[in-house]
Amino acid sequence: MSGSEYFEEGALVAVLTTQPLDRLLDYVAPEGGCFAGAFVEVPLGPRRVLGVVWGPGRGDFDRSRIRPVHRVLDVAPMRPEMRQFLGKAADYTLTPMPAMLRLATRAPGLADPPSMRKIYRLGDGLPDRMTEARSRVLEVLREYGGLAFTLKELAEMAGVTSSVVKGLAKQGAVREEDSPRDTPYPVLDPERPGKTLTEDQADAAQALREALRGGGYGTTLLKGVTGSGKTEVYLEAVAETLRLGRQALVLLPEIALTAEFLTRVEARFGAKPAEWHSGVTVTERRRIWRMVGQGGTQLVVGARSSLFLPFRDLGLIIVDEEHDTSYKQEDGVLYNARDMAVLRAAICGARVVLASATPSLESWVNAEAGKYDRLTLTSRFGDAVLPEMKAIDMRAEAMQPGTWISPSLRGAVRRRLEAGEQSLLFINRRGYAPVTLCRACGQQVGCDHCDARMVEHRFLNRLMCHQCGETKPIPVKCPSCGVEGKLAPVGPGIERLAEEAEAAFPDARIALLSSDLFGSARALKARIEEIAAGEADIVIGTQLVAKGHNFPKLTLVGAIDADLGLQGSDLRAAERTFQLMRQVAGRAGRAEKPGQALLQTFQPEHPVIRAILSGDEEDFWRAEAAGRQAAEVPPFGRMAGIILSGPEVGAVFDLGNALARNDGPLRRIGAQVFGPAPAPVARVRGRHRVRLLVKAAKGVPLQEAITQWIAPIRLKGDLRLSVDIDPQSF
Ligand code: ADP
Ligand code: ZN
Repeated sequence: MSGSEYFEEGALVAVLTTQPLDRLLDYVAPEGGCFAGAFVEVPLGPRRVLGVVWGPGRGDFDRSRIRPVHRVLDVAPMRPEMRQFLGKAADYTLTPMPAMLRLATRAPGLADPPSMRKIYRLGDGLPDRMTEARSRVLEVLREYGGLAFTLKELAEMAGVTSSVVKGLAKQGAVREEDSPRDTPYPVLDPERPGKTLTEDQADAAQALREALRGGGYGTTLLKGVTGSGKTEVYLEAVAETLRLGRQALVLLPEIALTAEFLTRVEARFGAKPAEWHSGVTVTERRRIWRMVGQGGTQLVVGARSSLFLPFRDLGLIIVDEEHDTSYKQEDGVLYNARDMAVLRAAICGARVVLASATPSLESWVNAEAGKYDRLTLTSRFGDAVLPEMKAIDMRAEAMQPGTWISPSLRGAVRRRLEAGEQSLLFINRRGYAPVTLCRACGQQVGCDHCDARMVEHRFLNRLMCHQCGETKPIPVKCPSCGVEGKLAPVGPGIERLAEEAEAAFPDARIALLSSDLFGSARALKARIEEIAAGEADIVIGTQLVAKGHNFPKLTLVGAIDADLGLQGSDLRAAERTFQLMRQVAGRAGRAEKPGQALLQTFQPEHPVIRAILSGDEEDFWRAEAAGRQAAEVPPFGRMAGIILSGPEVGAVFDLGNALARNDGPLRRIGAQVFGPAPAPVARVRGRHRVRLLVKAAKGVPLQEAITQWIAPIRLKGDLRLSVDIDPQSF
């Protein structure tokens, strides 16, 4: 797979297309030949499809029937290391190559020539009549030598209307040209002075700079409490990467965080970087895709899919909040962006920085084992101190029925109101109430298509399924027994909590932060800025607020239900609850004033709750690691999920049982199969889902065994199978 492999016109080439075929197709190289890695358009049946020249063709059938490549696209060829990355990622996640290629070409209109715009430069002609305005335009152009400007730029610089420029162009005194709209991004300047780092921060930044100068692959776990300056430190690593002339990528777990981050980058480097996520326009995505390949952008800030951009020379990948579960893609190609970042870096010789206040157990174990370097920031920046953490024992609180804010928490909020400080009430549940129950028959209102309850959203005045997004009006009659007027909301969601807070604190300004309450990322960003500026007394939020926002006036965090995540049998529940509660608590007291976090719990003696309160993280991880080791589950063993789905539950289980019986290839590597059992989400959009869990020791060829195991399966009718390597829940 050498990058310079060249195929002359008429030679046979093997092409990987984005179409769901499980093999390479042979074509004849076009006029002018092509390089390995070239993006091409090839005929497939009656259509033309996108593909990449993968290597020499095999020529194992009738040469006269092999069709020529239609055309080679005018974009940088895919680099050998990118092809290697896609191949390895496909092998690891057991994803067909065409699906991997689709991930790597998510720039709509890639095959189109770049769009054009008019630019203006100095011409040879003379104007028939010289006016004051005209001479100013020519002066500007002379002053800037051969540079070209857009109409708007030129008119603004000369202080004239655009018709003046157009008049000059008509007479040839100014030359009008077409130029591709794909322009490089503004240059980021690493030499602009950054903040003065504390000693801890400076040491960490220095270690990263040295590692980057040393070159080659390596991963660093950058662990530091919220507000300790991890971002400041890794921006220095970005600066060093820019100095070395390489490209950097910063992955963020949440689009809502990008705007704030871009502003910080601009303050540090004097310009904004490229931004890549689902909210970016099609034209802009295409520009980034091309520019990244040509080296026309030095820094990309993006969602997990930016890992598949065709960087020319990627030297650094930051995974911010590396423990965040949203790094796991749960649709289509199932991959964990954190693990793929490490894979990509290992192939292209880049450094990975995993930043978190509460690392995933996987990363903590890798750091303990010496596979990752570790850098730690122990204290918050400036005078900010970590919040005091306390439990509110709900068994001892005098609660009114239908309320969730305990008298103790109420008192604490009231004291903040009197002091002019902000409070945050946290509950990880969107909507008004998680359950709508019929008081006549006891049935809950469920989704018609999923195995999920319908959640009441008063804001929308509808019931909504959080699984498939289906909504319906709140019924008057119970769908099960038909009795009227007996449906009642049970349990608190963020909207109901807001209602309670409004009644308890009628004079307070209350702000709700939940992903479903905002039509756009911009609206959400505006609200976040208002809160940061102090335009709210009580913030009521879901998981969204746990992620990295700075609210300087916030001094109290009240977790309404700290036990929520501890229910259920998931082996990762403890880790998740620990991370979430520590993150939420970290929102308090980020500026001068000290903060406090109060956790409402019915089980203050639970080991996880105790670990959250004591803040002894190393102890918590050690205990968690020991438990996982004893159970031989990740990261000490390997797991894979096989998800089967179909419209008919019996057929899905039959297939699952057949698989479980014929487990020869798995037994040969000593792996065990559990199930089939209903998947964590057992029914979605009318499809029944069943899961088989495979458990194996570390170091065995798990992917190979699974491939052999599922190879004989012929999926009949509407049955589907997908493999989930390293599932999130087990
Ligand atoms: P983290 O990423 O660990 O949560 P940040 O890098 O966001 O921490 O830092 C928290 C806050 O403290 C930010 O507003 C940041 O600008 C500020 N800060 C951190 N370190 C410094 C420093 N050395 N000088 C000035 N401000 C700093
Ligand atoms: Zn549904």
